[in-house]
Amino acid sequence: MQNAIALLDCNNFYASCERVFDASVKRKPIVVLSNNDGCVIARSEEAKEIGVTMGAPLFKVESLLTDHDAEIYSSNYALYGDMSSRVMNLLHNFTPEVEIYSIDEAFLNLEPRKHSLDNLAHSIREKMYQWTGIPVSIGIAETKVLAKIANRRAKKDELREQGVLNLYRSSKTESILKETLVQDVWGIGYRSSLKLKASNILTAWQLRETDNRFIRRLLTVTGARIALELRGIKCLPLEQSSMKKHSITCSRSFGQIITNYELLKEATLYFLTRVCEKMRHHNLAANAVTVFISTDRFRPVPVPYSPSATYSATYPTDSNQELQEWTFSTLERIYDKDYEYRKAGIILSGLVPSEELTKRMFDDERFERQHKLMKAVDAINQKFGKDTVRFASVKTEGRWKMKQTRKSQSYTTNWNELLIVN
Ligand SMILES: [Mg+2]
Repeated sequence: MQNAIALLDCNNFYASCERVFDASVKRKPIVVLSNNDGCVIARSEEAKEIGVTMGAPLFKVESLLTDHDAEIYSSNYALYGDMSSRVMNLLHNFTPEVEIYSIDEAFLNLEPRKHSLDNLAHSIREKMYQWTGIPVSIGIAETKVLAKIANRRAKKDELREQGVLNLYRSSKTESILKETLVQDVWGIGYRSSLKLKASNILTAWQLRETDNRFIRRLLTVTGARIALELRGIKCLPLEQSSMKKHSITCSRSFGQIITNYELLKEATLYFLTRVCEKMRHHNLAANAVTVFISTDRFRPVPVPYSPSATYSATYPTDSNQELQEWTFSTLERIYDKDYEYRKAGIILSGLVPSEELTKRMFDDERFERQHKLMKAVDAINQKFGKDTVRFASVKTEGRWKMKQTRKSQSYTTNWNELLIVN
C-alpha cells in the first residue's frame, strides 16, 4: 500500500509569529516588512481582506493600513527562525519521518498510523496551535506533488477554517487537478509552463493524462517525474537529510549609502560574524569565502557596479580570525572608491563537517586553539544573546545597519527581551 504524505504549511508565518507574543493584535490586520522596511512580505488574513497586496511598497499602503488600525512590523528573523525550529521539532511527536522543506513547510510520512488520516491531521493542527500559537494548514495525498496541491486548496475559501484537505485515494482529486493550472504545480517552473501551454497542456489534470514519453521529451526526466507524481506514483522520496548545506550566505542592504572602505569593512565583518556562527552551529568548516558588494539597484551611482570575488584556501577553517583575513583580502580586490554602495554579502562555501578537518602540517596548534575559542564564544552568545562576546573589531552599529524601526522584541532568543507577564 502507498504511504500517505502530508504537507504542513504555517499560515502567514511571519505575521503569525508576531501575533503569538502580542495579544493586543489578535484580530488586527498585521503586515511584516522586508529588510529596510521597504515592502510587505507577509500579511495576516485581516490584512489580505482590506486589500494589502504582497510585495506592496510601504509608502503605497501606509494610509490604508493606518485607516484600519493595522500593526506594521520590521522583519524579526531571529524570532521567525526560532519559532520555525519549535514547529519542526514538535512534528517528530507525530511521525519519525519529517522533511523540513522551508522555514514554514514540512513534508511528513503519516504511516504507520492508528487513526484515520482526517483525525490525525486535525489533531496535528490543534496540537500545533496549542503548543506554538501558530496556525497551520495540512494537505494529504499519495505523493509530495499531490500533497502540495492539497495544501494549497486547504488554505482556500470554504476549507480555510478547517485547514485540512485529504486527497489520499479521494474522488475529489480529479476535479481539483482540473482546477489547478500547470504553472501552479510544484516543480513546474516558468519556462516549463510555457512549453506545456504551447502544447495545449493547461491544467494539472491534462499534464497527468498526457503520454509520459511526450512529457519526457518536452521537459526531460524531471518533468516526467512530476507527471507521474500527479498520477499518485511516488518518484520524489522524503529527504530527511535535506539540511546538508552546500553554502551559507548573509547579504543585506545598508540603511544608508556607503563609499568609505573602512565602513564597508565593518559591514562585511559583521555579516561574516553571522555566517560563521551559522556554519559552526551546523558543525561545518569552509574552504572558500566569496565577497560581493553592489551599488543601489534603483539608483546606481555613478553606474551599476556589483563585483564579487572568491578566496579559496587549501585548508578548510571555522575560525573567524582566518576567515576575516580571507574576507578582507577579497574585499580589497573588488573595492573601488568611485562608487556608492548599497549592499554587501558573504558566502561561505566548500563546506565540510568540522570533525573531518584535515590535520594541518604547520599551524596545527594555533588552529586547534582558535577552533576551541570560537566554540566557547558561540556557547556564551547562545546563552546570553547575540554579540555578548565578540572580536573588538566587530562593530554592531553603523551607517550600514538596516533600518528596522518597527521590529518586535526577540521574545524567544534574548533573555533581556523575554515577555513579561504582570
Ligand atoms: Mg506558509
